[in-house]
Amino acid sequence: MKTTPQSLFASHALLPTGWARDVLLQWDAQGRYTQIQVNASAPAGVPHTSGPLLPGMPNLHSHAFQRGFAGLSEFRAQSQDSFWSWRTLMYRFAAKLSPQHLEAIATWLYLEMLEAGYTSVCEFHYLHHDRDGTPYANDAELSLALLRAAQATGMGITLLPVLYQSGGFGGKAPTEGQKRFLRSTNSMLRLLEQLQPVCAAQNAMLGLAPHSLRAVAPQALQDAIQGLHALNAQAPVHIHIAEQMAEVEGCLAWSGQRPVEWLLNHLPVDHRWCLVHATHMTPDEYQRAAATQAVAGLCPLTEANLGDGIFDLPLWEQGGGIWGIGSDSHIGVNAAEELMALEYSQRLQLQQRNVAASAAYPHVATHLMQRAVQGGAQATGRAVAGIALGQQADLVALQEDHFALEGLPVAEQLDAHVFASSRTSAIDSVWVAGQQVVAQGRHALHLSARQAFVSARRALISE
Ligand code: ZN
Repeated sequence: MKTTPQSLFASHALLPTGWARDVLLQWDAQGRYTQIQVNASAPAGVPHTSGPLLPGMPNLHSHAFQRGFAGLSEFRAQSQDSFWSWRTLMYRFAAKLSPQHLEAIATWLYLEMLEAGYTSVCEFHYLHHDRDGTPYANDAELSLALLRAAQATGMGITLLPVLYQSGGFGGKAPTEGQKRFLRSTNSMLRLLEQLQPVCAAQNAMLGLAPHSLRAVAPQALQDAIQGLHALNAQAPVHIHIAEQMAEVEGCLAWSGQRPVEWLLNHLPVDHRWCLVHATHMTPDEYQRAAATQAVAGLCPLTEANLGDGIFDLPLWEQGGGIWGIGSDSHIGVNAAEELMALEYSQRLQLQQRNVAASAAYPHVATHLMQRAVQGGAQATGRAVAGIALGQQADLVALQEDHFALEGLPVAEQLDAHVFASSRTSAIDSVWVAGQQVVAQGRHALHLSARQAFVSARRALISE
């Protein structure tokens, strides 16, 4: 789809080099920046945003169907609930989904993300087959439902079909609840070949997600990554790693090494990789993993919701580590809240304030946003790394007269958006690849998508 070349003038914009005043942006028919002029004068006829203009935030980790399940597991079901008891309930929900349910849930989710400041998503997609575990007539049925949801809402997408083969370390047999996820390595490579042209046609990136070291044995892991990189040498690879202590203990019992340690010892991890969670690492693992330039995929609200543990952000950043944020289980869908939760976990752990700040960016929200946009963009494998030439015009304009922002200097406005907007949203407009998809806080499909989402969820929980 071609867009008309457009331009936008912002009184204040957050560029990769920091805050700039009077910024004139222009982009081409593909939605890529062709001109970024600071201290410009406002030309007549060009739309003008007076509230802060931010780069769109990439959401680097999503399991779309789990949005339909958010809020359904916040009750005590046994004397001690854990990630693993949550997973049993989530599998029960996943077992019932149809392609229509998935498309309705994902369409609403991507719309919610756009309204909440996310302009691209990495979809870690592991639900492949029909309810009885047999492949659909079109093996890509559920992948295509996700791509359609992204296209309908205007969301940028990196599709990461998930390789899932075993129920635990050492090739343990999968459980009944995992039958919709399972694929041979060859079947995965055929799926990738089928999806490659479809993704290219809608400016989507195709990558691969070996689910975890629990779910994929070493040889399959190597073969699948080799197959992916034969298709596209720059394609991203995402993997869940070291989210839970039970996973670390299982990995130690199987291999004598911790998950991140094992991964770094056996695979050529580099900038194409995203290590999702990477919560439980030793200082040595922090240092080694950071040095690979792989992205740490942090999902602070989900990690808090599931009781995973706390990522050591200062240690990671000291080692030059790159990171971004994801909404994972979608217990929260809000880029600002995700950044707030990340900073608060660090404050609680260290008993300090303003932890995620730097000499370049003493304002916490500015520091968090700069890092999360760059790291998130790297994880998508797409040109969405902020307001810079050659990148895609993915933009979020805040409302200048929102009660939390009005009358404040610009860096404080972003701090207020992240920390002090009291669960209201200050987001006014959102553009993806130069196309406006949200105006006055609303996406055009808001009402119809909401209705379809609520009916899909109602049908699923009443079954
Ligand atoms: Zn996940």
